[in-house]
Amino acid sequence: MFDIAVIGAGVIGGAVAREMTKYNLRVVILERESDVAMGATKANSAIVHAGFDAKPGTLKARLNVRGSELMEDYAYELGVKYNRCGSLVVGFNETDRQTLSELMARGEANGAKELYLLGTREEVLAVEPGVADGVCCALFAKRGAIICPYELCMAEVGCAIDNGAILKLNFDVCEIEKSSDGYIVSSADGKCVEARWVINCAGVYSDKIASLVGDVSFTVSPRRGEYVLLDKSEGGRVSHTVFRCPSPLGKGVLVTPTVDGNLLIGPNAEDISDKSDNGTTAQGVAHIKRLAREQVAGIDFSKTITSFAGLRATPSTGDFVIGVVCEGFINCAGIESPGLSSAPAIAEYVAELLAGAGVTLTPRKDFSGRRRPMHYFRELADEEKNEIIKKFPEYAHIICRCEMISEGEIIEAIKTNPRPSDIDGIKRRTRSGMGRCQGGFCSPLVAQILARELKLDLLEVTKRGGGSLINLSRTKGKS
Ligand SMILES: Cc1cc2nc3c(=O)[nH]c(=O)nc-3n(C[C@H](O)[C@H](O)[C@H](O)COP(=O)(O)OP(=O)(O)OC[C@H]3O[C@@H](n4cnc5c(N)ncnc54)[C@H](O)[C@@H]3O)c2cc1C
Repeated sequence: MFDIAVIGAGVIGGAVAREMTKYNLRVVILERESDVAMGATKANSAIVHAGFDAKPGTLKARLNVRGSELMEDYAYELGVKYNRCGSLVVGFNETDRQTLSELMARGEANGAKELYLLGTREEVLAVEPGVADGVCCALFAKRGAIICPYELCMAEVGCAIDNGAILKLNFDVCEIEKSSDGYIVSSADGKCVEARWVINCAGVYSDKIASLVGDVSFTVSPRRGEYVLLDKSEGGRVSHTVFRCPSPLGKGVLVTPTVDGNLLIGPNAEDISDKSDNGTTAQGVAHIKRLAREQVAGIDFSKTITSFAGLRATPSTGDFVIGVVCEGFINCAGIESPGLSSAPAIAEYVAELLAGAGVTLTPRKDFSGRRRPMHYFRELADEEKNEIIKKFPEYAHIICRCEMISEGEIIEAIKTNPRPSDIDGIKRRTRSGMGRCQGGFCSPLVAQILARELKLDLLEVTKRGGGSLINLSRTKGKS
């Protein structure tokens, strides 16, 4: 019997699970995929929004502003890269100037701090010299920040596991039945756990999970957003996140540096019906490139590394659906943007809801919230690296030449919670395969390391779990 079963290991499930392990509670996390951070958390803009976008009075507005306040310390504690680079919403005409004033007023009503209107092109250029020719005004949010969303999620879940939570991967929840003390949560392939409280953090499928306990008060629809990621050589085009002023023609796209030094462009917004369709389209990519060129000067798209898409979990209510549905069941559903920014505040709010529902939350004295950064080795001084290499020579054996990731770092990732079991899992934890060649050279080596460390046959190693095998047969006479 667990006290808490969290369904979904995205950035929200991770934050909630970690928060729960601060108290004397037995926590289990149920995730249908073979790794954590496989939903919207893996593919989004990675912005910690300052809080001027959401409508005042909504949960989104309150939790965004609180989340943005908490995020810097939260990221530091979890050893996750975070950069308060600031953001600009750029305008091109008098109508945009009016919209920017409205956004500023909305931000102030939400309690967002350090917002400034830049009324002339010169003022904008003084803050961000990279903007394109037509830009004449901007809203500057000094507290806007960037973060790595999947690294955050892995650190949250890893921290929860380090503090006693159990992570059950490949657990596709398909039934939730009332028991005498709580709920029995069952998977499609016959596994089950029992918990006093179930917390639904299932992203785009959170309406389906809520319906399993009879809550059909909302639906969640997928809204696809496509992106283009450019090489680090383009990462210095801008030093702030540059949004476009929303207009009747749409919200526009953003151009932003990432915490790893790349340039990210996107997303568009397309309502689709398939909750698993995160493919990109030539049309969508062309559209975001065109808009990005209007905002930021001189982007060299020949330096594109990859394109990808994420699915927003758009709730029919227009706001986050967070609350106690019935005794023993809490929804954290329809968490679209600014969900990433709000994650630590949502976790805090869930604890308040549980306390309000009469659950005794006794803080644990032995809770440890800190994590060593996953990228710590790369940031050491040469002398410190050499000391480690003397003892563990595998740190000198470079596997990914684009990102300069060593075998030692890959082995360490395999041994760190939440443990990866496939090539993409290694990629998200170490950046091996994230560079220009996108794993063309290092994937076979990573596969061999995974097979050796996890005691698998090389033919069993997958790209991203399930049936995504990469080696289909052995050539006769060769190993
Ligand atoms: C294009 C785009 C851009 C965005 N940009 C930003 C941004 O810049 N800033 C910001 O703050 N927010 C942004 N967001 C929103 C942010 O990404 C989400 O709010 C956040 O990732 C939601 O996290 P989650 O844990 O609720 O969902 P997810 O990350 O989708 O996680 C849900 C998890 O539940 C699992 N699951 C589903 N069904 C089941 C089941 N039956 N059994 C077990 N597990 C199940 C899934 O596999 C998944 O791992 C953006 C989103 C998108 C798509």
